[in-house]
Amino acid sequence: MYRSHSCGELRESHIGQTVTLSGWVAKTRDKGFVVWVDLRDRYGITQLVLDEDRTNAELLEQARNLGREFVIQIKGEVIERASKNANIPTGNIEVLVSELTVLNESKTPPFTIENETDGGEDLRMKYRYLDIRRNPVKNNLIFRSKVAMEVRKFLSGEGFIEVETPYLIKSTPEGARDFVVPSRMNEGQFYALPQSPQTFKQLLMVGGLDKYFQIVKCFRDEDLRADRQPEFTQIDCEMAFVEQEDILNVFENLTKYLLKEVNGVEIDSFPRMTYDDAMTKYGNDKPDIRFGMEFAELNAIAQHKEFGVFNSAELVVGIAVPGVAEYTRKELDALINWVKRPQIGANGMVYVKCNEDGSFKSTVDKFYDQDDLAKWAEATGAKPGDLICVLSGDANKTRTQLSALRMEMATRLGLRKPNEFAPLWVVDFPLLELDEETGHYHAMHHPFTSPKPGQLELLDTDPGAVRANAYDLVLNGNEIGGGSIRIHDKDMQATMFKHLGFTPEEAKAQFGFLMEAFQYGAPPHGGLAFGLDRLVAILGGQETIRDFIAFPKNNSGRDVMIDAPAPIDNAQLKELSLKLDIDLK
Ligand code: ASP
Repeated sequence: MYRSHSCGELRESHIGQTVTLSGWVAKTRDKGFVVWVDLRDRYGITQLVLDEDRTNAELLEQARNLGREFVIQIKGEVIERASKNANIPTGNIEVLVSELTVLNESKTPPFTIENETDGGEDLRMKYRYLDIRRNPVKNNLIFRSKVAMEVRKFLSGEGFIEVETPYLIKSTPEGARDFVVPSRMNEGQFYALPQSPQTFKQLLMVGGLDKYFQIVKCFRDEDLRADRQPEFTQIDCEMAFVEQEDILNVFENLTKYLLKEVNGVEIDSFPRMTYDDAMTKYGNDKPDIRFGMEFAELNAIAQHKEFGVFNSAELVVGIAVPGVAEYTRKELDALINWVKRPQIGANGMVYVKCNEDGSFKSTVDKFYDQDDLAKWAEATGAKPGDLICVLSGDANKTRTQLSALRMEMATRLGLRKPNEFAPLWVVDFPLLELDEETGHYHAMHHPFTSPKPGQLELLDTDPGAVRANAYDLVLNGNEIGGGSIRIHDKDMQATMFKHLGFTPEEAKAQFGFLMEAFQYGAPPHGGLAFGLDRLVAILGGQETIRDFIAFPKNNSGRDVMIDAPAPIDNAQLKELSLKLDIDLK
């Protein structure tokens, strides 16, 4: 038996018992006549003690020679600790060692295995298995497991069954590039790894399974924008005989359940906002509604004066930033420079200081008198002490810029509290999105999403105006998940493909199996998928999903620990009938 207890288990009630423990040497402290060893495992740390009075000389010497991260097994008696440590649960006791076996030695680790480590990100990723021994990483993985467990508990309680779908498939369009896998047995042919199980879960509905879920890996070959992973995990769901409202209810309840079980937080407000409202009020389809600073469109009151910049703008829009009217000239100039950075891209910013005495001081006093500015204050809801920030220009771009400013100011003012949660649904998304570069429309969600009833005709006349039965779950300014009511009619699906620029032949080649299935009694159905990595990170009050993934990839999509991707040898290439046409440097 390697152990009778874990390293996190022993308390004063165990005093006098003889125990066996196994674990890693976190630290040894050698005071000459006495040696202490901190023994660590997943469950905690227990202090071991050996001294000249009570331990034989050979054993004491053995303890002195233990290196960091040696794996050892000890036997000893639990005794009361002279100087107690209130910071750890085992801090009242220690184990007086009578036997010690080194189970495995360890090289000196390349960084310290402590909560605060001296190892940089790259080094920790290369030795991720050592990083996982550290509490912050280990606790995140335990947290993730708990969230996944609660998801399974809730969904099975609601009658969902978990079904696995294949990884070696054909392209499922979710808007990214596919990872492809060459087939040896089918020369010159390739599988695609699923960007999501979308078509399979729809086929499961045709198969009559009624309520499906799966915690599943998805693969998308995208340029890795900040905090994305090429393989990530979804909580993927689909239901038959449902309308949008049925789905929103189930997953609203799942979200509430998780916040309660995992964070102990009761949510009573779960608003629904249309996409159009989200864009006009927050300039963003995933608004953080934990704080105000709602947009106020000022065209009607700010245009038609002498200020040319506003007069020529499609949109003039402002927010009232609470309590920063006293910003110095230097701070205000810095803020203007912030919005003018290329990442944000504003041409400039007009501001109005709402003074405590009720007067206003603005950068455009030449064009607007106190009465004008009072109207701006009223529209933005600004109070004395607030700063009104106004941007103008092309409507879409200006909204995006002001949204970035709103989030920045909220961060600076500490309004984005990690332990405060404000979920909402954003509904009625546009069905199609114009690709500015190609001038073509593509599906905003995916090509299987159904337009709102009665809007089909608009597809020919004003495709950008068609709204979809599509929805996103947003939490604290992050898109946690999204889904839609699907098309279940073969002809409507064919029409949709046509509008997305597929020829009938292309549609058949790529999605013939789905259209075929729709001819055999496909029920009305819909569903959604949550991003598990992001959900876990937010519930865990942290920013980066990498911290909640055991073996993540870096920003170049590499696993630096196993050193992948890697070349394959010629024999393997030949077997796959592949020839490389690249200059290997
Ligand atoms: N397959 C979709 C996605 O990955 C989710 C859904 O529509 O259910 O975003």
